[in-house]
Amino acid sequence: MSFDSLGLNKSILQGVRDAGYEKPTDIQEHTIPKILNGQELIGLGQTGSGKTAAFGLPMLHKLTGGEPGLRGLIIVPTRELCVQVAENLRGYAKHAGLHVCTAFGGIDLSIQESAFKRGLDVLVACPGRLIDHLERRNITLEKIEMVVLDEADRMLDMGFMPQIRRVFLRMPDERQNLLFSATLPKEVESLVEDFLPGAERVQIGSRSQSVSTITHRFAAVDALDKPNSLERLLMRESGKVLVFCNKKIGCEKLGNMLKRSGLSADSIHGDKSAEARHMCLGAFSRGKTRFLIATDVAGRGIDVDDVALVVNYDFPLSLEDYIHRSGRTGRAGKEGRAVSFVVPSEKRLYEAVKAHLSGKEVKDQPSAPGRGYGMPKGRAGGNRPGGGRSGGGGRRATADAR
Ligand code: AMP
Repeated sequence: MSFDSLGLNKSILQGVRDAGYEKPTDIQEHTIPKILNGQELIGLGQTGSGKTAAFGLPMLHKLTGGEPGLRGLIIVPTRELCVQVAENLRGYAKHAGLHVCTAFGGIDLSIQESAFKRGLDVLVACPGRLIDHLERRNITLEKIEMVVLDEADRMLDMGFMPQIRRVFLRMPDERQNLLFSATLPKEVESLVEDFLPGAERVQIGSRSQSVSTITHRFAAVDALDKPNSLERLLMRESGKVLVFCNKKIGCEKLGNMLKRSGLSADSIHGDKSAEARHMCLGAFSRGKTRFLIATDVAGRGIDVDDVALVVNYDFPLSLEDYIHRSGRTGRAGKEGRAVSFVVPSEKRLYEAVKAHLSGKEVKDQPSAPGRGYGMPKGRAGGNRPGGGRSGGGGRRATADAR
């Protein structure tokens, strides 16, 4: 199928061509015609599946040529995702004369307010900052025609559900609602019942599935040996590597340690200013920094197509985090690799992830000396995390292992 046959107007199609897309991805092919028809949708898509264009293109199509003013709203969980989604949409909207603005915390409200005054058709916003602007009457949601809730499961994890409900209540009843999520936990289902009761579900791949172009590997390591193992691993890599840590402090320390070792590394986490994070992402995207150490929240918005390897330096605390982290590689149909360090106390989390991935290409790291990622000799059997199943790996099912 081609983009031309989806029913999008010429100016949007020109924006798509400028982005270099040749044909729609699965999720785009399934959702765009339905959204253009006015259908409410719940898109359960793989990470990196092209969902931004899946909701962005039909939204921009519908708003083209209408009265100026805020008519399209996209709510996202993090600043990085906010910037990324807005950048994509600006590209697609380039020939349609539509203005796309952002609203996220960490920068002065007045800067965003001035941008709104220059023209605002679509707003990409994080919940907290969106409410700040609403309370100051910098914007009104009275004319919203379409709203998208992106990464709804992440909003839940970050405690944004009360804000989301408040925002939904401030919009006119006559509007089209779309919700995108990698998974559909109970609380998100309840939001769906309240605000999108008639929505059709579009499942691309199986629920919680990770991108199938990724090879997943696991390496048993001792906690104390993790820094050295990482250093050795990075020294062998020639492409871009994204390394995940569970805590901001650990993330910062690891970035500094790698820099001291002469590696082209930097760290990104919530304690850095929006500007510092933006610069850091830009340097990584351009390849100026090759190794980026990130926390989960900061890592969510990293949309860099050519990340060769994702390293879980700390094992993720939930299956969803594993899926989202590994989804930063293998994007847009490219091959990707994910390597996770596993210390003995993380065995249960590892088993949940491995059970979920079974059926895909999963390799335990070889343990012979001189091979693999520096696992001490003799750990292959007993001490290495086993490959057993541990009951499905539901949402946060094994987070109590820490
Ligand atoms: P997303 O899932 O929206 O974050 O998109 C993942 C990556 O795929 C982004 O870098 C997009 O620019 C890219 N992308 C989206 N749609 C297409 C397409 N139809 N063809 C090629 N690349 C695409």
